[in-house]
Amino acid sequence: MENGAAKCDSRERKPTPPLTVRSVLDALMENLDQSDRRPVVPLGHGDPSSFPCFRTSPAAEDAIVEALRSAKLNCYAPSLGLDAARRSIAGHLSRDLPYKLSADDVFLTAGANHAIDILITALAQHGANILLPKPGYPTYEACAAFRHLEVRYFDLLPEKGWEVDLDGVKVLANDKTVAMVIINPGNPCGSVFTLEHMKKITETAKTLGLLLIADEVYAHLAYGSNPFVPMAVFGSITPILTLGSLSKRWIVPGWRLGWIVTTDPNGILQKSKVVETLQSYIKITADPATFVQGAVPHILEKTTEDFFLKIRNMLREAANICYDKLKEIPCVTCPHRPEGAMSTIVKLDLSLLEDINDDLDFCVKLAKEESVIVLPGSAMGLKNWLRVTFSVEPSLLEDGLLRVKTFYLRHAKKK
Ligand SMILES: *Cc1c(COP(=O)(O)O)cnc(C)c1O
Repeated sequence: MENGAAKCDSRERKPTPPLTVRSVLDALMENLDQSDRRPVVPLGHGDPSSFPCFRTSPAAEDAIVEALRSAKLNCYAPSLGLDAARRSIAGHLSRDLPYKLSADDVFLTAGANHAIDILITALAQHGANILLPKPGYPTYEACAAFRHLEVRYFDLLPEKGWEVDLDGVKVLANDKTVAMVIINPGNPCGSVFTLEHMKKITETAKTLGLLLIADEVYAHLAYGSNPFVPMAVFGSITPILTLGSLSKRWIVPGWRLGWIVTTDPNGILQKSKVVETLQSYIKITADPATFVQGAVPHILEKTTEDFFLKIRNMLREAANICYDKLKEIPCVTCPHRPEGAMSTIVKLDLSLLEDINDDLDFCVKLAKEESVIVLPGSAMGLKNWLRVTFSVEPSLLEDGLLRVKTFYLRHAKKK
């Protein structure tokens, strides 16, 4: 009898739907004033694909069309991914590494979000925990909630250019900690780590015996003084699981193609069976469409450097507009000029505002009054901060930030 009751209970114990970027943004969109004739300025999430100036490279489009027209890719793909695609990703990533990756190190996923779900599922075990950056990317927490994997947050330090608080990491980690997630270039902070800091991160992971997950979906989208360097260059210190995708660098998030890559020159992951567990889950989960997989070799080989250069220049211009215009708005402070990825975060000073309760209230009223969408920091674990994504058409960005300023003036505390 008791057993039956316990079963029933556990069936009801579904996790409450966690706060995700999408759920918060959907809620904000519902607050838009339909009678406002001005265009909505979407500074809430990083999908610039709808702006003509951010259109993907012609080479990538051609690769997809060719793959589709070949009529050879209408089949199911092998469960770990099409070999040609895995080989080309291995070759592509090896160019920046002191080792040569092989096709066997690469697993294809339906975008990086799917890669996150796969990793969390493979790593979750009874009583285990995972270390995540705060602020960070909420999908990790949302997936962990469904897998009953405990989440512990280490801080990124604004006064140190959003570097990882490694002393905090040492305090948080215990013998049940399975991994630590590093996002570089950083979402939401727009930071790019120095080589020295990355080395320290890998050494800390080694000392603590943690797996290091390097979320590099913004790989190569660095346009400040620190160049992008993949975490895997330190793979001989500790094994690295790298997440990547076409979504951000090629600006095709709808194509749903990502990857998990293991850099493990000392064979540690093989021994610990992490790779085996990963593979066995990947074999039963969804895969990216076969023709998209089939297009990968040409997408990687034929996209020209001037496309990447153009995108980096556009993002630098947008980041500078964003930083400079935000500076003119007294109620927000931006600790750093963004140097990579597509967003920055600002601290909200509520004492300068008359009738705004918190970050969420700010975002709801801003959507209603100015048709501008920004993400409340609460969605990333940082109350009374805002994430501003600047990967939009530059004139629309300026317009949007001007509206934020107008909003501030309307709600400013009267002296
Ligand atoms: C966008 C993003 C992802 C998801 O990428 P997709 O390939 O579109 O699924 C993962 N991690 C971070 C940090 C991101 O910003």
